[in-house]
Amino acid sequence: MPDRMLQFTHLKQHQPDKREVEQRRADFDEIYRDFGIPQAAAQSSRCSQCGVPFCSIHCPLNNNIPDWLKLTAEGRLDEAYEVSAATNNFPEICGRICPQDRLCEGNCVIEKGFESVTIGAVERFVTDHAFTQGWVKPIAVREELSQSVGIVGAGPGGLAAAEELRRRGYQVHVYDRHDRPGGLMIYGIPGFKLEKEIVLRRWKLLEAGGIKFHLSTEVGRDVTFAELRARHDAVLVATGVYQARDIGGPGSGLGGIVKALDFLIASNRKGLGDAVPEYESGLLNAAGKHVVVIGGGDTAMDCVRTSVRQGAASVKCLYRRDKANMPGSMREVKNAEEEGVEFVWLSAPEAFLGTGHATGVRAERMRLGLPDASGRQSVEVVDGSRFTVQADLVIKALGFDPEPLPKMWAQDSLEVSRLGTLKVNHRTFETSLPGVFAAGDIVRGASLVVWAIRDGREAAAQMHAYLQPSARQDMLVAAE
Ligand SMILES: Cc1cc2nc3c(=O)[nH]c(=O)nc-3n(C[C@H](O)[C@H](O)[C@H](O)COP(=O)(O)OP(=O)(O)OC[C@H]3O[C@@H](n4cnc5c(N)ncnc54)[C@H](O)[C@@H]3O)c2cc1C
Ligand code: SF4
Repeated sequence: MPDRMLQFTHLKQHQPDKREVEQRRADFDEIYRDFGIPQAAAQSSRCSQCGVPFCSIHCPLNNNIPDWLKLTAEGRLDEAYEVSAATNNFPEICGRICPQDRLCEGNCVIEKGFESVTIGAVERFVTDHAFTQGWVKPIAVREELSQSVGIVGAGPGGLAAAEELRRRGYQVHVYDRHDRPGGLMIYGIPGFKLEKEIVLRRWKLLEAGGIKFHLSTEVGRDVTFAELRARHDAVLVATGVYQARDIGGPGSGLGGIVKALDFLIASNRKGLGDAVPEYESGLLNAAGKHVVVIGGGDTAMDCVRTSVRQGAASVKCLYRRDKANMPGSMREVKNAEEEGVEFVWLSAPEAFLGTGHATGVRAERMRLGLPDASGRQSVEVVDGSRFTVQADLVIKALGFDPEPLPKMWAQDSLEVSRLGTLKVNHRTFETSLPGVFAAGDIVRGASLVVWAIRDGREAAAQMHAYLQPSARQDMLVAAE
């Protein structure tokens, strides 16, 4: 063990500095500053190189974290990059947006008493550095195969699978209904968590590696699913979940009540330089408005912080449970609080007020009850606790369900679960349709980027196992 490691006993945890609140409220740039080489090395040296690395076990990709921390501490950054890239297609993205407090860092053994190693920040640094040094290269295929795969959805699940399959020599075609790849990484997650350029440079790299992108192409509208199956030897469905959960009640049809993803897509498009009429008209723009966001997950956090940056007059987040029970990352709640968002815990909307257009939300106080079947504490209304919050923009961020793919794609035999997610064989990732595989949120339900990457990688390995026998057959025929 080199002297360089085990420094946690005297070297304090230091996450990358955040930009000043007033500065970051005024733009959509990432809020964390970059580590330099000395900081990354010093923070990596805090790792205790423990025998059973719980950080790796709790990372969905089982990243070899202690190995790349040691290499970073020793200044062997090219090797650190190689090790990190071996298990993760987009380490610089996960380093930025994984909820590390619940995954790798939350399970770091030095966390008890000394604060965890800053795993995410080092992971991000290593690949960002590799990009600046030109170490990140497009895929160079050793042997081109004649078989092709069609991937529906260019989110992290689809892109990770695309990269893995292309590496093995397949002709990979990715279809997406949006005009840019990235899925929620480009049109959902705002730039202050993940700058768009980070995602777009991956697109360019994948394209340079020979992956063909068919953008602005919606399967079920521009091409049928049956056509896609006929075109390719295997198909992967990685379409994510996009049906926004709604809220009813008096006044729920008023103007000024919008869906979270519509609001975020408009904001992200604006940032990317697109013309966005709904933003210009004020429909999907918080400037000067009293904004109320309903929900407590990552999407709600992104909406409140986007509203702040658009110049809202006030921003409140109504959540029916308390802070300890928020599903969103605690780090993002803290960032939102710093940026001036007011959280109204234990409160749920009961009616929307106004004539034609919303002017307020009438809410009720909630109290936490006993845990329900899922183990989460139930919520109940506190009688006579109604109160009103001023609002001329209400953003509904209540979660997402899958779209009804079997109906949309006229595929009655594509089996779905009770929740509408695609049913797969959990060993092979194959759906009920032969040669059709699925990965990411469309299988798990709304989840995380890192899980979509893992599923994409595993599905790609299974698709390869499915395709390989006929690939060999092709090669034999060619040789004859
Ligand atoms: C606002 C928001 C913030 C989030 N923040 C975080 C975070 O901080 N950290 C984190 O880890 N996770 C976060 N998540 C979750 C994360 O983004 C998702 O879990 C992840 O993107 C899922 O990846 P995916 O590849 O399964 O699907 P997606 O990223 O949803 O990509 C699916 C793609 O399929 C395309 N598609 C769908 N249907 C069709 C069709 N019929 N034809 C062609 N294309 C189609 C879509 O256009 C999309 O590009 C957030 C989610 C949201 C909504
Ligand atoms: S991928 Fe996510 S969970 Fe895994 S090491 Fe990186 S930041 Fe941690």
